[in-house]
This record gives sequence, structure tokens and C-alpha cells, in this order.
Amino acid sequence: MTESARQAETPETQVARLILALRSQGVTDPAVLAAMERTPRDLFTPDLFKERSWEDQALPIACGQTISQPFIVGLMTQALTLEPRARVLEIGTGSGYQTAVLSRLSRLVYTVERYRTLKREAEARFDALGLTNVITKFGDGGLGWPEQAPFDRIMVTAAAESEPTTLLAQLKPSGVLLAPVGKGPVQRLIRYAGDGAGAFHSEVLCDVRFVPLLEGVAQAL
Ligand code: SAH
Repeated sequence: MTESARQAETPETQVARLILALRSQGVTDPAVLAAMERTPRDLFTPDLFKERSWEDQALPIACGQTISQPFIVGLMTQALTLEPRARVLEIGTGSGYQTAVLSRLSRLVYTVERYRTLKREAEARFDALGLTNVITKFGDGGLGWPEQAPFDRIMVTAAAESEPTTLLAQLKPSGVLLAPVGKGPVQRLIRYAGDGAGAFHSEVLCDVRFVPLLEGVAQAL
């Protein structure tokens, strides 16, 4: 199908096409697919890229950051194995798209972003969608959110250079933490699962490309 033919499709068809593509690539959890179907990604993309909102691609957002590829959002959300009662910490709010998907599958989502502008824009989107179970914070997510710890689940959507020990310390003993780990442009997506007794088993899920998890807060607005 050509690009122009794809763009001539109705939004509903584009959404259905994306959901089918995710399922065929292994995102099979019906709750995850339903949460993504109900979350309008075009609300989270900049005007310049609106018409590409339903393509399975990462896209640029403000502050030189990116909104993640839908397949990665689906894969990570599925691998987090959420439960409706879960309190979740997300590091790297960005556009807020991943946050919104998480919020539909858990009790409370705490999300931290180091750019004030991104935090503010994401908050406006959560309001527009009527999401009342998201709590945002401007800060260095590498430090986690100690006042609200421990969390049932933690998702890091920026690449940590090494094992995220500070965040692992804020996870419940039976919790799950997902993070891209590595120094280069390609990192390994790692799933840490607590054994309930203080140890964590780690498993490499796949290669991913995330922007780096940077120290401190951004000085830019
Ligand atoms: N899940 C987001 C992905 C955003 S990209 C989405 O789908 O839109 C990663 C985000 O992590 C960027 O917005 C970046 O500013 C943020 N980030 C990087 N290092 C951070 C840190 N130490 N604390 C908080 N946010 C951080």
C-alpha cells in the first residue's frame, strides 16, 4: 500500500491495522491491545507528524525526544505483566503515551520527566482523556520516587548505562522492572523479576533504541 493510500484510510482503519500488526508481532495480550486501541496516539504526536500517528514507528516530539514505537510500547506493557491493583512507576514521561496505556491497566501510575515542557504537555493530555490515576513529577527519574516506593512495577523508557540499582531498590520483592540497558544507540531491553526474597532474576528480551537516561533535570523549559 502506498503512503498516500494509507493516509486516505479512516482513523478507525488505521488503528485496526496497527493493532493487527502488533498482534502478528507477538503482542497478544487482549488487555494490552484494548488499552492501546482506546488510547488515541494522535493526541500525543506533534502536528507535523499527526498523520503518521498510527504507523508503527517512533516519532520526534518536543525537546529532542521521541514517542516510542507502538510495538515497543505493546511489548513492554505486556512484559510488565500488570495487575489492576498495581502501583506503577514510569521513568521518562515524554509524550505521555506509554503512561496513558499503563494507566488503563493499573491502579496508579507515577511518572517522572526531566523536561518541564514535556511534563506539562503530557498532563494536559491526561486531563483531556480524563485519566485521573496518573501522578506526574518534574525531576531526575534516575533517583526514582523514594517517597512513594515500593512499587509493584517499574518501567524505564530511557536507556540506563548500567543496571538500574537505585530503581531496583524501590521495587517490591515480587515486583517487575523493565529497562533498556546499554551505552550505545542500541541497548538491551531487560526484564528484572523479583523472587520474593530479595533477589532479582534478569532476562534479556530484545534489542531496542531509546534516548539516554540523563542525570539531573533539563535546564531548558
Ligand atoms: N514513553 C515515552 C518515551 C519518551 S522518550 C513516550 O512514549 O512518549 C524518553 C523520555 O525520558 C524523554 O522525554 C526524556 O526527557 C526522559 N528522560 C531521560 N532521562 C530522564 C531522567 N533522568 N529522568 C526523567 N526523565 C528522563
